[in-house]
Parts: sequence; C-alpha cells; structure tokens
Amino acid sequence: MSTSLQQPPSGNGTLVNITSKEELIKQKLEEERNRLAHELGVELQPRQHFARPVENLFIKSQREHTTLLFGGLTWKHEHLIHGALEGLGYQCQALETPDVKAFQLGKEYGNNGQCNPTYFTVGNLVQHLQKLEEQGKSRQDILDNYVFFTAGACGPCRFGMYEAEYRLALRNSGFDGFRVMLFQQSGGLNQSEAEAGLDMNVDFFLAILNAMNTGDLISDVGYQIRPYEAEKGETDAAIRECMDYLHDVFKNHRKFRLEGKLGGFVKNVPRVGSTAEYVGKFLDQLYGDDYTGALRQVGERLGKIKVDRTRVKPIVKITGEFWAQTTEGDGNFNMFKFLEREGAQVLVEPIGTWIMYMIHQAKQKYRDRQGVNGEEAMPSAWRLDKRLKNEFKVKKASAKLSLAEGIFKREWNRLRAALNELPHHLTDQYELQRLGHPYYNSRAAGGEGHLEVAKNIYYSNKDLAHMVLSLKPFGCMPSTQSDGAQSAVVNLYKDMIYLPIETSGEGEINAHSRVQMALGEAKVKAKQEMARVLEETGLTIEQVREYADGRPELCSGLYKVPHTKGVIGAAANFVKHVSELMKQDSRSRLSNYAAD
Ligand code: SF4
Repeated sequence: MSTSLQQPPSGNGTLVNITSKEELIKQKLEEERNRLAHELGVELQPRQHFARPVENLFIKSQREHTTLLFGGLTWKHEHLIHGALEGLGYQCQALETPDVKAFQLGKEYGNNGQCNPTYFTVGNLVQHLQKLEEQGKSRQDILDNYVFFTAGACGPCRFGMYEAEYRLALRNSGFDGFRVMLFQQSGGLNQSEAEAGLDMNVDFFLAILNAMNTGDLISDVGYQIRPYEAEKGETDAAIRECMDYLHDVFKNHRKFRLEGKLGGFVKNVPRVGSTAEYVGKFLDQLYGDDYTGALRQVGERLGKIKVDRTRVKPIVKITGEFWAQTTEGDGNFNMFKFLEREGAQVLVEPIGTWIMYMIHQAKQKYRDRQGVNGEEAMPSAWRLDKRLKNEFKVKKASAKLSLAEGIFKREWNRLRAALNELPHHLTDQYELQRLGHPYYNSRAAGGEGHLEVAKNIYYSNKDLAHMVLSLKPFGCMPSTQSDGAQSAVVNLYKDMIYLPIETSGEGEINAHSRVQMALGEAKVKAKQEMARVLEETGLTIEQVREYADGRPELCSGLYKVPHTKGVIGAAANFVKHVSELMKQDSRSRLSNYAAD
C-alpha cells in the first residue's frame, strides 16, 4: 500500500494516488476504531444511515376502499370537515380528541425531546390504529385501506419534524408503511399527479375552508352562550344538534357546474376561456347562500336557548401555541371546561386568525424581498429595467395576497352576520403586528411568532378580556421565546392579568391551581367593574333582571349586546345596554305623551 503512494503509476496516476490515500485513511480509521472498541469492550454494529422511507402511494383507484383519517382540531371543526370530505366523495373518519394515553404512546414510540403536541398527535394516530386492530381489522387491512391526512411544514420549529415523527412512531409500533399524507408541503406525496388519491382541487380547498370557518364561528358562539344558559346542558345539546345538521349541509353541498345557470353566464364572459370553471366556483362561493342560509337556521335554534346575562363572570382570553390553544381535551388539561366550571367565560382563538397570519407573513416576506429576484443579489442601480421587473413581480404577488385577505375576511363576516354578528371579528393582523413587533420581531417565524405577545396586549387593552391565559406546550421553542418578551410586556402594562401555563401530559392539578389563583384576581376585577357600572347607571341588578324578564329577546342566546368602551364583562355590558334601552323607552313614552 505504501508503495502505491510513493510510486504513482503512469497515465492517470494522480487519481490512482488519491484513491490509494483515501483507502489508506479508511483502513487506518478502521484499525483505530477496532482497537478502541476492543480496548473498551464495545461490540461494533454495522452502521445504518437514515434514508427517507419509500412511501406507499394513495391513488385514485384506491379511493373507494380507503378511509381518510384526520384530526388535531376540535370535534366541531372535525365533524364539519368530515361532512365536507364525504360530500367530495371520500370515506373518512376523524380521530378522537387526543388523551393522556395517546401522549404516553407518543412518548413510547417517538423520539425523545419532542414538544408536547407532537407526542399527543403522533400517539393519537397510533392509538387509533391499535383500536382498529382491537376491533378485528388485520394489520395488512389497516395498511391497505387507511391513510392519515395532516398538515405539515418545513419548520422552523418542531412542526417541521412531524412527518418524520409520524413515520418513526408508526414503524416502532408495528405499522411500518402506513400512509401519511401532508398538505402545505411539497415533500409529501405528489398530489399534482392526475392519479392522486386525494384531489386537492378548488372544491377541496373551499370545502375545507368553509368547514373550518363555520366550526370557528359555532365554537365562539357556544363559549359565549354556555356560561349564561338558564338550563344547564342546553347549549351543548343544541350545538350537537346544529353540528349534525351542518354536517349534512356540508355533505350535500351542491358543487358548481358549468352546465348550470351561473355557469352559462360565466362561460359567456369575454376572455374567461379555460378558467371559466374556477371563476364560476369563486363567484358561487362569494354570492352563494348555502352556508349562510344554513347558519341562519342554526342561529334560530341557538336563539331559543334562554340565558341570564346578569351573571358576573371574568372573560378569559386563550392564547398560546396553535394546537394547545385549540384542542379541547387532555392536551391542555381540559382547560376550557375547567375555566367554565370555575365561573369564567372563555374566549377561544379561531383557526381563521392563523390563516390570516399566514397570508400576512407571506405578504411581509414579499415586501421584504422587494427589488430582489429570487436568490439573485440586488440588481445594480443602473439596471432600472431589472429593478422595475422585480418590483412589478413583488407588487403582483402582494396584490394577490391582499385579495386573498380581503376575500377571506369578507367570507368570515358573511357567515358571522348569519349568526347575528355574535361571533367575534377576525383580529386585524396589521394591528397585531403593530402591537407585538416592539417586543417580538414580527419576522421571527415559528409557532405563533409575534402573535402571542400581540394578542396579550390587544385583548387586555381593547377591553375584551379580564385575563389572558397562554397555553404553551412543554418543549415549545417559539413559546419559550415569547415568554421572555412577555415579562417586558407585563412590566409595562401594570393592570394586565397574564398567566402562561406549560401544558404537558402530566401536572394537571398544579396547572389548575395556578389558573385558579390568577382567576381569583380576574373575578375581583369583573366584580369591581360591575359595581362601577351599576353605580354609573344608577340601576340595581334586580331592576336589570326585571327589565330583561319582560323582553324575551334580551334573554335569547343569540342576542347581540353592544360593547361599551371601557367595559369588559358580558354582565356589565348588559347593564349598560339595558340602561340605554330604559332611557329610550322613557324618551318614547314622553314623546307619545306629548303627541297625545
Ligand atoms: S409551535 Fe411549539 S409546540 Fe407547536 S410544533 Fe412548533 S415547537 Fe412544537
């Protein structure tokens, strides 16, 4: 060997020489490794490098016998997505809300050091597959006839690792080869192929978006009515009924076809050409009455719930990490139920805010890169043509995103109007950026980014919540960062009641007791506010109740009480409203008297 190094052969000698050197290094390394292993008594195992596993495809011809599994939101969202997917011709099943058992399975079969939602969601899928097996399905049957469909991303936080975590846990639990499909990521199954099992077309996206928005709005309304219901349990029963009805509305939703009346009109629009079908679908979405009409029916049912809005309750705004603030189960210590049991009104976060945030961030990115084309350096100052071309490209992309923002907001407000405007507005992303950016750079992506900080300021300063509770999963990187920024915020806004709670698979009692303490302060704040409002209006609570009893519309679950500036609580706002109504009544009595 040493000979080949010292005497390069003729011809292609250099190459041979390098190869020989590399071989020598390899051999020396191997010898040294063996020597060390021998000295330490370690048995060397053959090395196995990671290779992306071969993915089994889900193709169109398998659709009929394949069940799509999905989950990760609330049962309300999932019930509607179920209806929407069935309406698109898929067989589907929503996973159960993840519980502690799922968390333990996630830990058992997944990697160490993951964030809490990873364990819950990954373990939940394994648990579901195990249950299918217990029901008598063979493992091969599960692999052949089920597929899991979920959101994915490329980071920058651990969300980028979810896909790999699902695969690892599935392999470790004996379901190697089970199909996991991601949307929002190009690295998953290639859905652009005509033969793809899941057809991600316009109908698909519109159906899912409508289902998520409707789920958000019903959830919001439910949390506003339940704490004040006259008969315990009536809200939950009514919501169950309404969700079943809406499930069928989504399932039977008619799809836009060019052959219809609107289709005939669209086809005749000049230059619409091959995009006629897309244009028609969007027009149908923007002006159709299927969902708004159904929500008006739901509103009528919810309006029949009798409420007593004179109960003084602190409003607790939920913020935090996306999954921890959304799930309604063990994943956040069943926090919403706990808060309601403890006498609070919960203000939940809609998924719609997250969608608007993503559009906003994409727009910001385009603006930041203005004048730069792709990965190229900024064109020189004298290349005005290139600079203008780049600028036009950015403006065009930004305009498209602004249009998407406008349409999403419009659709949200249309559905909201069908529920008597009772659900909250979508929080303005530009306002959130303005509030949060001084503390948490709005370009720092990952998790909820600057939103956690911004929402804390927004809800406290706009008289929308007595207390902000941030649900932060154990091991969440972005949430840990924003915790640091929150201490500066809390120092500046002295009246704020803000509590961050780290959610995990254990420690529920400790978390509940910390919430109880902060809630005590929020209750005092709500009571003081009510006392101030009663004093300002000169009314007693009995007078307010008596007035409301005489007007059934004021006791309807769907009645919209206007928000008074400087007043947070539902009861205090109700007193202000009744006081105004009383004044109006006496004014009209006086004018009637004068007319007589
Ligand atoms: S935001 Fe936090 S909890 Fe959520 S995926 Fe990222 S690291 Fe995990």
